[in-house]
Amino acid sequence: MQFDVRETESAGDAIALSLPQFRAVEDVGRNAATKSGLDATPEQLPAAPAHIRAGGRMMDSHGRTILDLRISITDRCNFRCVYCMEPDVQFQPRENVMTPSEIIRMARVAQSLGVRKIRLTGGEPTLHPQLTDIISGIRAATDVEIAMISNGSLLTRQKLSAWKRAGLDRMTISIDSVRADRFARVTRSTVTPEDVIAGIEMCVAEGLTPLKLNAVLVRGQNDDEAVELARLARRFGVEMRFIEYMPLDSAHAWDRSLMVTARETRAAVEAVFPLTPTNMDDSHSTARTYRFMDGAPGRIGFIAPVSIPFCGACSRLRLTADGNVRPCLFSTKEWSVMTLLRGGASDAELANFLIDVTWTKLAGHNIASPDFVQPERPMSAVGG
Ligand code: SAM
Ligand code: SF4
Repeated sequence: MQFDVRETESAGDAIALSLPQFRAVEDVGRNAATKSGLDATPEQLPAAPAHIRAGGRMMDSHGRTILDLRISITDRCNFRCVYCMEPDVQFQPRENVMTPSEIIRMARVAQSLGVRKIRLTGGEPTLHPQLTDIISGIRAATDVEIAMISNGSLLTRQKLSAWKRAGLDRMTISIDSVRADRFARVTRSTVTPEDVIAGIEMCVAEGLTPLKLNAVLVRGQNDDEAVELARLARRFGVEMRFIEYMPLDSAHAWDRSLMVTARETRAAVEAVFPLTPTNMDDSHSTARTYRFMDGAPGRIGFIAPVSIPFCGACSRLRLTADGNVRPCLFSTKEWSVMTLLRGGASDAELANFLIDVTWTKLAGHNIASPDFVQPERPMSAVGG
């Protein structure tokens, strides 16, 4: 089935000076996958300065430009990773989740504002029954790079090949352990690491590359697996990235002492596999990447948002499954674009909305500050 990507466009392109009340969602509650921006107290989104709107780019007040949009296409997941979702997390009613047409339309408007890369995420995006249509719709409407991140548990050659034909450029697969008992404990699923490793092999075979692998090390859970995970990079010639555990878990159980820093992880990997910087990281990259000094294929990446914040180079904006735009992963406020999407707004109004939200982006996440407030919504709800 093909979506008509124009079907939700409203006629006319006049830029409304007086837009409807946008709804800000502030500190939506625990297990907040159930909270919808549509229930929130209306709050007026301040307009960006006229010259910023006129520039037709998403620029924030700190001089950063948005090039990368992460779209959570579903908040549902078949895993309950300990650092992400509690077992009893509740999901959005389906009617609150963006439709494929709404997702595709947002992708098109974002590209018109300079976005060059869209990452489909979740929840688990491969659970979405219309995933192929979403990919092909974005491909028909834009020429952005389309990437997707998945827990790798539901992959088949047939699906990967269909997504690739539809326009998917590359994949990232999360894998936190190569030991079956650990994997079960961390993901609280019956999937095995072999299932995910088979998925990794299939992605490589399908050419959904450069393939990246993500792992979150949590102290006392899988913090002794850095070397085993690094071996996957060498085995498949891919980039294995270690992400610091961030305070974005639905249980609010994050504690600095549970986080394994990038420095610690690097030392563990280097004790077995000496590394040298690739010097290939672009200025917007979240990861600092290294290659193996012995010349083995593959790379190691470290993403250290907590210990070495990279907010100054941030070029990302996030769209939640229920149609809220988040200026930052750690925002305690997000803005509902669903109100516009379902209220007959024109593309120009959507564009102004994205420009205005971007303008509200704070300089940094402030995790190190004693005043830091953990956002209520977990990573799975905000499009990690
Ligand atoms: N379900 C897919 C997956 O796991 O790859 C996509 C969504 S998941 C939210 C995206 C990424 O966020 C995964 O690599 C996951 O490990 C990471 N993540 C989730 N919660 C996190 C946390 N509290 N701190 C750091 N990374 C986290
Ligand atoms: Fe699901 Fe991904 Fe969160 Fe794990 S990290 S619970 S796989 S959304």
